[in-house]
Amino acid sequence: MGGVAIVFFGPPGSGKGTQASRLAQKMQLPQISTGDLLRYHVGAGTEIGKIAKPIMESGNLVPDELVTQMLRERLKQDDAICGALFDGYPRTTAQARSLDALLAETGKSVLVVLHVDVPDEAIVDRLAKRAQIEGRADDTPETIRARLRVYREKTAPVAGYYEAQGLLVTIDGDRTIDEVFSEVDSVVYQRLVQPAPA
Ligand code: AMP
Repeated sequence: MGGVAIVFFGPPGSGKGTQASRLAQKMQLPQISTGDLLRYHVGAGTEIGKIAKPIMESGNLVPDELVTQMLRERLKQDDAICGALFDGYPRTTAQARSLDALLAETGKSVLVVLHVDVPDEAIVDRLAKRAQIEGRADDTPETIRARLRVYREKTAPVAGYYEAQGLLVTIDGDRTIDEVFSEVDSVVYQRLVQPAPA
């Protein structure tokens, strides 16, 4: 059966998680954050967590196969039957292809990719603030720099993958949460009414 898959795409600290969480509430769909899933595995000390921990602390990407395996399990849960919002995934073109394949298994496809765009200066500021509030282990200045570099090298090219399919919509994320959300909401509504041609 069909279902809705929406991808939130953007650099660390762009606010994509906040936007995904608001849309998830409104659409009554689960927000699937691979970062949160990995932090859960690290906290629980699973095999995946043991492999992921040092990689996450360095700001690098966890291997694609591991992320895909974790996501396959997550998508089997009942709450994802009607679809999901993806936050911080896919982060490589290989992951984007895996997501297409995983969704196709249950007759779903990506409806739209919301690229939340924020200038680098604003990101460094936001991440420094988040570090104070949340105390995330990977929000230190060196890791922030490493994560931005990894984003540019490995994740930014994913935009081209989706742009070629007419799925990418870039949204100015350097505004208030409400302003950004109002655009997110209207873009999603438009796509639900009129999806991109296959
Ligand atoms: P996030 O919370 O999305 O910023 O992710 C925190 C860290 O988890 C990243 O810096 C990566 O080390 C790892 N991570 C999260 N999602 C992925 C993914 N889709 N692919 C590879 N690594 C990921």
